[in-house]
Amino acid sequence: MDDLLAELRTWLSDALPKWKAKWNGDTSWDALCDWQRMMAEGKWATASWPVEYGGRGLGTMDVLAIEDVVAASGAPQIPGMIGLKNVAPTLMKFGNDEQRKSVVRIGSTDEVWCQGFSEPGAGSDLANVRASGRLEGDEFVINGQKVWTSNGMHASHMQLLARTNPDAPKHKGISAITLSMKTPGVEVRPIKQINGGAEFAEVFFTDVRVPVANLLGPLHEGWMVTMTTLGHERAGVAVFAGRLEQRIRGLIEDVAKGDTRISPVVADELAEMYVEARVLGAMARQMLNKIAQGGTPSSEQSVIKMVWSELSQRVDTVVMGLAGVEGVTGDNHAAALGYLSARSATIAAGTSDIVKNIIGDRVLGLPRD
Ligand SMILES: Cc1cc2nc3c(=O)[nH]c(=O)nc-3n(C[C@H](O)[C@H](O)[C@H](O)COP(=O)(O)OP(=O)(O)OC[C@H]3O[C@@H](n4cnc5c(N)ncnc54)[C@H](O)[C@@H]3O)c2cc1C
Repeated sequence: MDDLLAELRTWLSDALPKWKAKWNGDTSWDALCDWQRMMAEGKWATASWPVEYGGRGLGTMDVLAIEDVVAASGAPQIPGMIGLKNVAPTLMKFGNDEQRKSVVRIGSTDEVWCQGFSEPGAGSDLANVRASGRLEGDEFVINGQKVWTSNGMHASHMQLLARTNPDAPKHKGISAITLSMKTPGVEVRPIKQINGGAEFAEVFFTDVRVPVANLLGPLHEGWMVTMTTLGHERAGVAVFAGRLEQRIRGLIEDVAKGDTRISPVVADELAEMYVEARVLGAMARQMLNKIAQGGTPSSEQSVIKMVWSELSQRVDTVVMGLAGVEGVTGDNHAAALGYLSARSATIAAGTSDIVKNIIGDRVLGLPRD
């Protein structure tokens, strides 16, 4: 692994300054896509993908080490994570020849994919989806609404979950369907968030017709396909857990450098959070090892998700406290934005309530009534 990381550091020392010089502080969507394109050309963004898709065929632990080095270099976050990490592996597993052609284009950002799963009334209870995909001849006719579609405004394509058999039991009558966001009848409306951004969209479908060849996986088996996609999303939480440890360590280093804003009480809290983050990081690595050996993460993923999301909110609360009034009202209100953005951590990829239900049920074996 040492050789691999040395190659990465050499590549970053060349590529990152070139990207920064080209975009001169611009962190717009286009600038970030350009960075992802460079990362994919270097086979770093796609390191986990098989070689035939432009990857390096590396295992989870190698990929985690790569992501740590990239994060430590100060490189920006690549924008097409949903496509790269969640959709592309699903297309590789379930896609037909045509659908699998999208994988390489996801790496280069020629295609940006979003996940159209949640709906009003189908979030935690995802199997409740009501968007319909009626099979009519050799086409699906899609009607309904999706919500909280991350990157919906930028996306060129969607992995959609639609009800294709209204008469079957909840989990049995839904299918995964791929579609271009330019298909007539698709309307995307941005949702403004409390942090001022609009990273989500509502997506409306009115008599949207797509060929039956856009079915992803078997008909009416969309639940299984979507659980594969969400399995990749949930494994990604382990990566965030590792990042949190790095972030708290950074704050502790500020204490060591004599940052006078940090009182003994805050220093104590940082130390406590660091210990928790270390334990969390160890659990996350253990889980990734299990996945690398072909195992399926289950209950441990829920514990990692719960602790990571709640701990990351505590960290952002401390950071905002340290920034003081200036951090909320000043030109540089990054601390306040971080605090507000962190609210979503306990909702995305399973709310804390749902995660606690799973822990109570599957880990602790608590009675249901
Ligand atoms: C940052 C972020 C990105 C997202 N990206 C996407 C995306 O790209 N695509 C997509 O399809 N969706 C996306 N989502 C949506 C996300 O999957 C849902 O928000 C999540 O599943 C919760 O569903 P909901 O918002 O409908 O809340 P609800 O399910 O309506 O829940 C409302 C409240 O009730 C509680 N609750 C619900 N059921 C139970 C229960 N059985 N027991 C106890 N409490 C319960 C919940 O914990 C919550 O507090 C994203 C969300 C966030 C925050």
